[in-house]
Amino acid sequence: MAAYETPRREDYAPITLDLILAKSIEEGDCWIWQGGCGHGTPHISENRRAVPVRRWIAQHHLAKNVAGMLATNSCGNPLCVSPDHVLVVTRARLQQLTVDRLRYHLNPARNAKLSAAARARSKFSPELIEQIRHAEGPQRAIARAFGVSFDTVNKIKAGKTYKTYGSPWQGLGARA
Ligand SMILES: [Zn+2]
Repeated sequence: MAAYETPRREDYAPITLDLILAKSIEEGDCWIWQGGCGHGTPHISENRRAVPVRRWIAQHHLAKNVAGMLATNSCGNPLCVSPDHVLVVTRARLQQLTVDRLRYHLNPARNAKLSAAARARSKFSPELIEQIRHAEGPQRAIARAFGVSFDTVNKIKAGKTYKTYGSPWQGLGARA
């Protein structure tokens, strides 16, 4: 990281946007890098030093402050160096983007599972959950009365699955 902060010397062979475009193939709005890569991302050699291409574009073409930041892109193509797609983000933001992309591109099964779980949760309104939580009697009878499974009642009563949704009457003596 520190190496990237080193100021460029006057006698370095200059990198230009034209040079970067010449080493890429245009595909739609993307510039697909055909040059070398380091750590899986496009790098270009500047006086025998490998410089990340997107970082160079952010710093020198887009005039962004890249100190402590990472360069990535908005399209998610690992080889795209299009200046229109270059983004400068924090490490935390990049990790989130990477997680989102992996979920979207590589793991449709997990996606389906996550949204199914969200749908399953949403059929229990906060009111219903509160009612079940405060209902008295055997849990099997409560389950039948509310039309939910015994397991659901058990988890709501134990406070394991369903968070409290800030019900206005909570803590006002209902449990006394
Ligand atoms: Zn792109």
